[in-house]
Amino acid sequence: MKVTTRSATLDDVRRTTLELILSQHPCECLVCHRRVRCGPDDICLRQVQVTDRCVTCPSADICELQEVVDYIGVENLNVCASPVPRDVDTSNPFFDLDRNRCILCARCVRTCTEVTGIQAISLANRGFDMKVATFQDADLMDSICKSCGECVVRCPVGALTPKETARPEREVRTTCTYCGVGCSMYLGVKDGRITGVRGDREGGANHGRLCVKGRYGIAEFVNHEDRLRKPLIRKDGVLVEVGWDEALDYVAANLKKYSGDELAFISSAKATNEDNYVMQKLARGVMGTNNIDHCARL
Ligand code: SF4
Ligand code: SF4
Ligand code: SF4
Repeated sequence: MKVTTRSATLDDVRRTTLELILSQHPCECLVCHRRVRCGPDDICLRQVQVTDRCVTCPSADICELQEVVDYIGVENLNVCASPVPRDVDTSNPFFDLDRNRCILCARCVRTCTEVTGIQAISLANRGFDMKVATFQDADLMDSICKSCGECVVRCPVGALTPKETARPEREVRTTCTYCGVGCSMYLGVKDGRITGVRGDREGGANHGRLCVKGRYGIAEFVNHEDRLRKPLIRKDGVLVEVGWDEALDYVAANLKKYSGDELAFISSAKATNEDNYVMQKLARGVMGTNNIDHCARL
């Protein structure tokens, strides 16, 4: 069998399909979260006026619809007709679903069904009325959606986009601290604050996937002003900030006073598997007690 992926005839068929998709797609690339990539000679391929913002376009090259326009080429440059207005669902605290930008590729539906197994969304209705919808057309927040964001990651256009839009200055690879699965992730950092999280495809535990806690729950508590950044020791009834050396000496000196069944250790589901292993070694091997438990059992 010989498979042909590119020919003039195939590109003609694709071009017609592409122009039909574009005819129902709003010409607002410069305000879309997956902004347009500029064409040759700085000509915006979507015929949106080129402005100063194009020069610093922060999200260049991430709209796959733009990539296809580049690849196939569009002959009818007046393809942006007058799309039928569609519902926008902003009910989810972490991401929006703007059906105006949706190209009905069904990647989100397949992701929710085949990757996460949740089946919160489907393609409802047919023809011009077709749209991504939940059961009984409820808002995402009133559906069984778990807010994992896996569909957002895979949406090729600006239909499913995170509410947080700041572009990170750099990324830091780390391990999620929320549970013992130990998903590998990249934290996007700007001005010393976490602006976003993406899964690490090389991560052995998660292969790029994250749950709602890892994807959307990290920035809030790490950036929170109430977060403890130094150890505290209660002195004369008042909690006082101390250095790590003083805190560790204090804990070691006090632990030394007890042994065996005078002690009980509670480990944490927010620690890694390895940390939990070390904790039970400390309890059994060092402190001589089998009183070791883990909060996940609760
Ligand atoms: S966020 Fe997760 S659960 Fe919700 S629709 Fe997307 S893939 Fe499904
Ligand atoms: S992945 Fe994006 S473009 Fe595709 S159907 Fe879902 S919302 Fe629409
Ligand atoms: S909380 Fe979620 S993202 Fe974090 S390690 Fe556990 S499963 Fe992975």
